[in-house]
Amino acid sequence: MAKNCPNCNGEMKEAEDILSEIEGYVFIEKGLRCLKCGEEFVGENAGQKMIEASRKLGLWGEPLKLYRKLSKSARGTVIRLPSDIERALGIKGNEEISITKIGRRICIEISPS
Ligand SMILES: [Zn+2]
Repeated sequence: MAKNCPNCNGEMKEAEDILSEIEGYVFIEKGLRCLKCGEEFVGENAGQKMIEASRKLGLWGEPLKLYRKLSKSARGTVIRLPSDIERALGIKGNEEISITKIGRRICIEISPS
């Protein structure tokens, strides 16, 4: 099912890491990404399915991913955690964390205290 990009008619490739924003929350979905202009398209029903799945799981309304800007301090680069995520995970601010680099992603795991 090769489709071409409606914007530039470029070739589109399936991607599983398309970010889409719904009501202020960002989710990762499956869809197509144009190889030429980089435009992303969420699969036909993926968006709706994802919303239904999130509702079933009781996840609806919980942000899974939010954008933040890094900032520089004298000792290095700082990430501020969104307060929604702090609350959802019960972060107090003195936990030990482990940081894993996965390609261009950074995974932060909070160690059980
Ligand atoms: Zn395109």
